[in-house]
Amino acid sequence: MIIQKSTSPRISSFDPENFSFGDTFIDHMFICEYDNEKWGEPRIVPYGPIGFSPAMMGVNYGQACFEGMKAYKDENDDVFLFRPEKNAKRINKSASRLAMPEVPEEIFMKGLQTLIDLDRDWIPKGEGMSLYIRPVIFATEEVLKARISNKYMFAIVATPAKSYYSAPVSVKISDHYSRAANGGVGSAKAAGNYAASFYPTKLANDEGFDQVIWTDDTAHEYFEESGTMNVFVRINDTIYTPKTSEKILDGVTRDSFLKLADKKGIKVIVGDVKVKDVVEAFDNGTLKEVWGVGTAVVTSVFKALGYQDRLLNLPILSETESFALSLKKDLTDIQTNKAEDTFGWRM
Ligand code: PMP
Repeated sequence: MIIQKSTSPRISSFDPENFSFGDTFIDHMFICEYDNEKWGEPRIVPYGPIGFSPAMMGVNYGQACFEGMKAYKDENDDVFLFRPEKNAKRINKSASRLAMPEVPEEIFMKGLQTLIDLDRDWIPKGEGMSLYIRPVIFATEEVLKARISNKYMFAIVATPAKSYYSAPVSVKISDHYSRAANGGVGSAKAAGNYAASFYPTKLANDEGFDQVIWTDDTAHEYFEESGTMNVFVRINDTIYTPKTSEKILDGVTRDSFLKLADKKGIKVIVGDVKVKDVVEAFDNGTLKEVWGVGTAVVTSVFKALGYQDRLLNLPILSETESFALSLKKDLTDIQTNKAEDTFGWRM
């Protein structure tokens, strides 16, 4: 791997108490280019723009997919990744679905570890702090033909991230728009999935909701995901979540929640989550919690569900009453090395 260190690093002016998530980037980035049917020499270079033509295929035909993962620093300044092999596998699942070449797992892992180690000073430490890491693969061939690209770039960039805390949100249960379809790309982290979600999300925002609970594309009868998260529902003391499928992203946080819930002895049913059953549980007082899970905020608690012309206001539970919050704590304690890692998730 070629490592070209920045001659003008910005780390000395980085204030971990005061930064903006998402547009503050660490000093370096990892890049590796694919051409002539093979991946080239991996490189770490100073973070910055890379010149491309507007005719680049990734821009025109959307052959692009990405990952989202985090690195955490504990009190002793030791740095941990959380289940990174899951992201390495998932980016390749996404790439295959988009007819893009897979990135060999050793290029992914070595690039990730070398970059994070080089820029470890950028990882803020303390409650809820982390480094958000974005691996991305996109088509770079400059040709205006709707076909599979012959050239790609795999890159990893990263931005410091703040507190896990996110205020409880209101969500609209979609009765028209869908995120995914049978035979589609819902289970891939395809860039275009996010583009397609922005308009329905904007309509929901205009109605006063923070995000959309995506339902199936036929009769909108079943919960699928929420915003860019997997969704959980608690009725009485049982947790329900949709099973993963070609329409639902196999979330790392979802999988971790399922394993932690099982360990805690909480009853979990993975299967169809019917909108009708959730509304019925609300009406008979057995709907206790609904929440979303994902790498970015770990857990987003829902305070209200909008369904057709109704607004279902949910109680806000304390950490001791809430399954969502207690599972979140179990997970973040493992991620930040405050709890024993019985599952072997830290790396
Ligand atoms: N669903 C979608 C559509 C997502 O974009 C994400 C974020 N990657 C998730 C679920 C949650 O996945 P994870 O827990 O792996 O972050």
